[in-house]
Amino acid sequence: MLDERPYDLLIIGGGVNGAGIARDAAGRGLRVALIEAGDLGGGTSSASTKLIHGGLRYLEFYAFGLVAKALAEREVILDAAPHISWPQAFVLPHVPSLRPAWMIRAGLWLYDHLAKRRQVPGSSSVDLHRDSAGRSLDKSLTRAFRYWDGWIDDSRLVVLNAVDAQARGALIRPRTRVVSADRDGGGWTIALDSGETLRAATIVNAAGPWAETVARDVLKLADPAPLRLVQGAHIVTRRVNMSGDAFMLQQPDGRIVFVLPYQTRYSLIGTTDTPVDTPDGAAITPQEEAYLIDAANRFLVRPITAADIVHRYAGIRPLVLEEDKDAHETTRDWKLVEHDCGTLTVVGGKITTYRRLAEAVLTKAAPKTKAWTKSAPLPGGDVPRRRGETGQLAFARWLRELIARHPDHDPALVTRLARTHGTAAESLLSQPLGENFGGLFEAELRRFATQEWARTGDDVLWRRTKMGLHLDAAACARVTAWMAAFTRS
Ligand SMILES: Cc1cc2nc3c(=O)[nH]c(=O)nc-3n(C[C@H](O)[C@H](O)[C@H](O)COP(=O)(O)OP(=O)(O)OC[C@H]3O[C@@H](n4cnc5c(N)ncnc54)[C@H](O)[C@@H]3O)c2cc1C
Repeated sequence: MLDERPYDLLIIGGGVNGAGIARDAAGRGLRVALIEAGDLGGGTSSASTKLIHGGLRYLEFYAFGLVAKALAEREVILDAAPHISWPQAFVLPHVPSLRPAWMIRAGLWLYDHLAKRRQVPGSSSVDLHRDSAGRSLDKSLTRAFRYWDGWIDDSRLVVLNAVDAQARGALIRPRTRVVSADRDGGGWTIALDSGETLRAATIVNAAGPWAETVARDVLKLADPAPLRLVQGAHIVTRRVNMSGDAFMLQQPDGRIVFVLPYQTRYSLIGTTDTPVDTPDGAAITPQEEAYLIDAANRFLVRPITAADIVHRYAGIRPLVLEEDKDAHETTRDWKLVEHDCGTLTVVGGKITTYRRLAEAVLTKAAPKTKAWTKSAPLPGGDVPRRRGETGQLAFARWLRELIARHPDHDPALVTRLARTHGTAAESLLSQPLGENFGGLFEAELRRFATQEWARTGDDVLWRRTKMGLHLDAAACARVTAWMAAFTRS
C-alpha cells in the first residue's frame, strides 16, 4: 500500500542518477518516491566499464570543464565508498603512428593537475622491457605511460544510494513501471503498473536511455529531450593483465579500448560505440565482439579468441544529441532539461558525476535546501577514520584488522565480504553464514533480499555481486531457486 500523502519529488528510474537524486533529496528532508521498472541498476548503470575517471580521451575534445569536474568527483567517490572502489593504474602503450609522445605527455600533465589528488598517484613514463606491465604486451612495444584513475562496482553504487535514500525516509519501489502521469491542480497524479496511484508536486525523469520515451509517452510532454542512443559492449575473458595494471589501448580508428583486471581471475574488455534506435534489448553483436578481440590483440602478447570469452554484456548510453558529432565525440556531460510544466529530464551523464548531477537537480527542484552528500560516506563505507586519513587508507587498515579478527575464515572470503558489504561484513562474519553456494552464502542472500530489494538469481549473481562469473551453472541454479523460494515465503 502506498502512502496517500503527496510526495515532494517523484523520480522515474532507479539507475545511478535516479538513486543518487533520491538519496540527496531525502537527506534534504524532502518526501521522495523512486519508481524503477526493473531491478535497481538493471539498465545502463550495471553495464558500464566501471571507471570513476576524468576521461583522459575527452581532453582531445577540449572538454576541460567535464574532465576537471569528473576528476574532482573521483576523489569524492573513492573517499565515500572505499569498499566498492579503488585507485586503478592504467598503462597506455605508445604507438608513434597514432598520437605523438609529446601530446600524450601534455595530456597526462593536465590530467594530473586539473583537480586536487589525495588518493590517486600521478603519471609516469614506463620502459615496457623492464616494467612488469610489459609481460602482457607485444614485445614490439617498448614505451608506455602509466596514469591512475578509479574503479567502482557500478551496480552496487546504485543500490547503496537507494539504501541510504530509504534510511532517510524515501520510498524505493523497484519492479514497478510508471505507466502515466497527469498534471492536475498543483501537482501530478502518477499511475503505476501495479494498479496503484500516487501524487507528487514535482517529477524528475531519470529514465536514462528511456528518458525521451518516458517524457513523450508517460509524461505526455510536447518538448521531450532528444537523445542520441549509443550501445557499448564488453567481453569478459581469461585474465590477460599479468600485472595489476589496466591497459588503455589506442585503436587505428581513433577510439580507445580498455582492458581491465576484473574479478581476480578475469579481464574486462570494452567498449564499442554502436548507434542504435531503441533503448530496449541491448545485446553485444558479433561485429562488436570481433572488434573488441581485434582491439585487444593489436597489443597483447598472448592473443585472445572467442573461446576465451566467459561473459558478455552491453548497455545503452543516453547521450545529449549533438547533431554535428560522431558517437565517440559526443559529450559525456549531462544536461538537465526543464520542461514547461516544471518537470526535469536528466540527459546524459556518467557514473562518475552522478552525485554532482543529483546536486544540480536539487538546486533546481529544491533551491532553498542545502547540499550535504560531498563528505557523507555511503552505506558500508563508514569505516573508522583517523584524523586526516582518506577513505581508501582507512578501509585498507580496517580490512587488515577485520582479517586479523576472523582467523577462522579464509582472508580471501573476508576480503570479498568486505568489498561487497563494507562495514556490514562485520555482522555477517559474527553469525553463521549458512549454506555455501560456492563462495556466496545464504546469510548474504537473505541480506540482499531483505535489505537491498533483490528478488531473482540474476539480481544477486550479476548486480548485488558479480559471483555469476565464479559459480558454475549448478550453483547459479541453486541460488536462483533459493531466491525464488525466499520471495514466495
Ligand atoms: C558501455 C558503457 C560504458 C560506460 N562506462 C562508464 C564508465 O566507465 N564510467 C562512467 O562514469 N560512466 C560510464 N558510462 C555511463 C554511465 O553508465 C551512464 O551515464 C549511467 O549509468 C546512466 O545512468 P542513468 O541512471 O541515467 O540510466 P539507467 O541506469 O539506464 O537507469 C534508468 C532506469 O530507468 C528505468 N525506467 C525506464 N522507464 C521507466 C518507467 N516508465 N518507470 C520506471 N522506471 C523506468 C529503467 O529500468 C532503468 O533502470 C558508460 C555507459 C555505457 C553504456
